[in-house]
Amino acid sequence: MDDSATREFLLDGRILTAGSRRPVTDQLAVGDGRVVPVVSHGAPRVRLPPGTVAVPGFVDPHLHLAAMAAARLSVDLAGARSVADVLDRLDAKARRTRAGAWIRGRGYDPWRLAEGRSPTRTDLDRVARGHPVTIHDATGHEVVCNSTALSRLGLERPGCAPRGVELDAGRPTGRLYDADHLLKAVKRLPLDALDDAARAVSADLVRAGVTAVTDATHTNGSAAFDLLGRWRRAGLVRQRIEVMIGAEQLGAVVAGGARFGDTVSGLTVGHVKIVPEALVIDDLRQAVTRARRHGFPVAIHTLDIASLAEALEVLAQAPPPKLGRDRLEHVALALDEQVDLIARSGAYVVTQPALVHHRRELYRRELSAVERGWLYRAGSLLAAGVRVAASSDAPVVDVTPLETVRAAAERQPGERVTWDEALAMVTVAAGRVGAASAGTLTPGARADLVVLDREPGAGPANPAVLATVIDGQVVFDPEGCFAALGSLVAPA
Ligand SMILES: [Zn+2]
Repeated sequence: MDDSATREFLLDGRILTAGSRRPVTDQLAVGDGRVVPVVSHGAPRVRLPPGTVAVPGFVDPHLHLAAMAAARLSVDLAGARSVADVLDRLDAKARRTRAGAWIRGRGYDPWRLAEGRSPTRTDLDRVARGHPVTIHDATGHEVVCNSTALSRLGLERPGCAPRGVELDAGRPTGRLYDADHLLKAVKRLPLDALDDAARAVSADLVRAGVTAVTDATHTNGSAAFDLLGRWRRAGLVRQRIEVMIGAEQLGAVVAGGARFGDTVSGLTVGHVKIVPEALVIDDLRQAVTRARRHGFPVAIHTLDIASLAEALEVLAQAPPPKLGRDRLEHVALALDEQVDLIARSGAYVVTQPALVHHRRELYRRELSAVERGWLYRAGSLLAAGVRVAASSDAPVVDVTPLETVRAAAERQPGERVTWDEALAMVTVAAGRVGAASAGTLTPGARADLVVLDREPGAGPANPAVLATVIDGQVVFDPEGCFAALGSLVAPA
């Protein structure tokens, strides 16, 4: 380790600590990578430019790092307006890819496609030129394979109809749902390319002011711990990483005795992640029971009213977790009475305010005004006493915490939150819903902070991130806010 992390400095200016005792201060002391009560005499001083504000580093409590890296190596299908548009983009890639190599695409929104349907194997076959092709929608839950891919994955054998494969008259359409278990034979991306992509993902996060993340991938097991741990230890990813464990991978991960909140290979061990519709061995109740047996709280993926009802029923009958609190991920739709049940369950909610903005076209088209009032609640949950944090769910949407803050503060009345509450959803609350504390600048906390050119809510435009500091190390500072520290600056 270089000596910069052990150095001290004083930060003078307007500082929002997100602490309950001193939410605003005009001076912060940093030493050994943490916020400290005092620094030694003569420690360097940094004066923030007038009008700027320092806030805790942003915490994204639910994203998918490996998928973000893989997305950078895939054909970008985001924003595609039609199946034809999807095919055009794949065609361009197929023309310049060496024969037989896999082609991956990612990021289309099925609801945005003019044909009113997702692509099928037949569509993809038209542009594949003999390549196996797999494309993921923006959420990653839907995958479409062409005929070559289906046969390489063993899904063309007569009578073969595993769970997750859509059939038409007994023949696979090419569409798979929550079917990661069927995709194991997709040729892996070359490790060096994936490493470079991870470095680029982390640099984007640094520029967005993100200093800690939680990887919420429901298939995370020992292999994910190896990959993410290597990225973190090699410095490819600068952010602190908490890793959820896939419900059905739990046994293998905890075989070595790891517990919730432990540090394993430089990563924090997080919740047990459960996507009920993707469970193969267990049902939801069994998955929660198993997590409890190992002492873990759970994070349950819930998108509709019925799945939320089931999750709440299972949680109500389970003993409370020994460590931490359970989480409900997304809660895309919740009835009024379910808001009270969530409060009673003691679970935290991790919502995605920016998605409401991203999908406003879909929601306006498919949901009534009443149903739109049930979407991605925040204000009503806070009013009921539920702790609510906000995340991107990247690569579903880009990681832009300041856009998330704005989206939360500008929701329809009822679900709208104050700018302070919105900022808390990506700082202190986002830290509290995880296993490792983060998201505050109170004494003892990690010195993770962001300098903004103005406070969120001051003016129509989002604030700009001027500088990012992780563990007391300046990792992004294009404007030279921390120039007084000289060698302390370690650019990403
Ligand atoms: Zn997710």
